[in-house]
Amino acid sequence: MNFQRAFSGLALASLLAAAPWATMAQTQQRAHVHGQVKLDVAIDGPAIVIAMESPLENFVGFEHAPKTDAEKKTAEAAVAQLRAADQLFKIDPAANCKLGPIALQSTALGLGKTEAGTGAAEGHADLDGTFAFNCTNAAAAKFIDIGLFTAFKGMRQIDAQIVSREGQFKRTLKRPNSRLAWGK
Ligand SMILES: [Zn+2]
Repeated sequence: MNFQRAFSGLALASLLAAAPWATMAQTQQRAHVHGQVKLDVAIDGPAIVIAMESPLENFVGFEHAPKTDAEKKTAEAAVAQLRAADQLFKIDPAANCKLGPIALQSTALGLGKTEAGTGAAEGHADLDGTFAFNCTNAAAAKFIDIGLFTAFKGMRQIDAQIVSREGQFKRTLKRPNSRLAWGK
């Protein structure tokens, strides 16, 4: 059952609360709920890295390889918006960040490393991404204004986890709230 999997995922996340970032990311369970997107924000040294997991539908309204011209246009527009990630993720100016490398992954859209059979059997597809920012004062960041609700009509909820030197924070944002804030 999904409920049981979700519950054990939560328990695991609690147990790993003090674990290093990489370990945590690898052991978290994936959720695929239309309208919801998961963001893991890691503030580490001079970098802020946002790892995003989302159903493809949130961005384009479908979950298969684009077939029609309209679908292809929709997909291209969504990818272009994600590549302009400093417009989607506006980090607290105190941190003075510049957008660095971006990696997008979606088997349906042919982006990144394709995983055979990922979600295909259930008729679902994902679009995941990693967005790295290089900052002169990353530790000063206390919020990110997130543009996903404005850019993508299918987005309703953001489940975020922030890991910084100050600790670990969990936040849920529901449309139209778009400021992800943490710390003091
Ligand atoms: Zn789906």
